[in-house]
Amino acid sequence: MTAYEQALAEFAPVLGLETHVELGTASKMFCGCATTFGAEPNTQVCPVCLGLPGALPVVNEKAVESTIRIGLALHCTIATWCRFARKNYFYPDMPKNFQTSQYDEPLCVDGHLDVEVDGEVVRVEIERVHLEEDTGKTLHVGGATGRITGASHSLVDYNRAGIPLVEIVTRPVAGTGVRAAAVAKAYVTELRDLLRGLDVSDVRMEQGSMRCDVNTSLHRAGEPWGTRTETKNVNSLRSVERAVRSEVERQAEVLRRGERVVQETRHFSEATGATSPGRVKDDAADYRYFPEPDLVPVAPDPAWVAALRAALPAPPSVRRKQLVAQLGLSDLDAQAMVNAGVLDVVLATVEAGAPAAEARNWWLGALAQRANETGVEPAELPVTPAQVARVVALVAEGTLNAGLARQVLDGVLAGEGEPDDVVAARGLAVVSDTGALGEAVDAALAAHPDVADKVRGGKVQAVGALVGAVMRATRGQADAATVRALLLERLGVEG
Ligand SMILES: [Zn+2]
Repeated sequence: MTAYEQALAEFAPVLGLETHVELGTASKMFCGCATTFGAEPNTQVCPVCLGLPGALPVVNEKAVESTIRIGLALHCTIATWCRFARKNYFYPDMPKNFQTSQYDEPLCVDGHLDVEVDGEVVRVEIERVHLEEDTGKTLHVGGATGRITGASHSLVDYNRAGIPLVEIVTRPVAGTGVRAAAVAKAYVTELRDLLRGLDVSDVRMEQGSMRCDVNTSLHRAGEPWGTRTETKNVNSLRSVERAVRSEVERQAEVLRRGERVVQETRHFSEATGATSPGRVKDDAADYRYFPEPDLVPVAPDPAWVAALRAALPAPPSVRRKQLVAQLGLSDLDAQAMVNAGVLDVVLATVEAGAPAAEARNWWLGALAQRANETGVEPAELPVTPAQVARVVALVAEGTLNAGLARQVLDGVLAGEGEPDDVVAARGLAVVSDTGALGEAVDAALAAHPDVADKVRGGKVQAVGALVGAVMRATRGQADAATVRALLLERLGVEG
């Protein structure tokens, strides 16, 4: 029995998941500033999102629409009237000294999301879905860890301040027992797929556009629930699972010693797989919430909400079943992809135009390997299904061979842009120009006259050495079959 299993044989876990999702709107929540990721620091700011005196916010309609669609997809009730609230606290990344959020009047309440764990459906109840604005980003410079401890100074970037952020809060999830960590991961995975299907966010956990706070507590059977800790900003699916495991093990130790778990926020370290204490958690009362006086209430027209409901896409679980059936995948095949965490990206790659077999091979092969090397799930790699489909298309049209395709994907993963950009920048296209190939073929024949003689003498398989020489000379950019045909033609031998 592992330490985790032992802990959950002795104690019952209660989880709570708060997920923040940056909406993919073109402009910010309360002003017209752009939201492009990766822009030069402090270039996407204005008096409103910098909180300058006299600036007045205006609600982004698209953000409200996206939040309502998320609420509807999660089976929530949509408020007919609600207000934004000010959450007052000071932090240097928040220039207004308050965050415009929602408090006791959220836009969506009382929903659920069903997730499958070990073939069994677990219903996760959703307490609320509300809309708020993101904060800026601080960068601590000079320390080893990037944390404020040990840093010589800090820089702040307000580009992210004011980007619309949706917070999705579950009710406490109890009764999961030893499956707690798996349920947490399955919930975040299913939520990510649902959000991707709604096309409201790019849900890139590694870029922080989706991040998760994981609340964990333990209690003995028959006793009241324990004190919870909140592990902040967990930013990969694998880390969600590891954060629950590590917190369960740690709290079990604390309780066994007869000590009390402290209510606090904690940080999860990808490197150690453990959590460490952050600050002692404030209660809601400390934030002095009050209704935002600068914004009119939000009162969505019921007809609009009905239209949004009617236009919702099928949920991921249904879409998955339809696609699996359409592609003629066997249950075993589908299960293998589920286990590897690639089913959705494979299906999305097929939807983007790739043949099922190719999509499956890339995600279960080269990409799964890259993911393993970097310690993330394949779906979390910085490459989109559409980009993989494009690489597959480039191979099909003869621009790339398999080896070059891998190099192109490496380029995409390294942030060099779209597949076509990488092909152009790295000069990776297959050399199919027979003139250029002809020169390389002639050079190989001149350099290896003994091999050429062997082939002429009937040892056709010896041509492989010449093909290899041409491939090396063209840095892998020739099409091997074309090279072989050209060589045999020059040598006057039938293939
Ligand atoms: Zn602005």
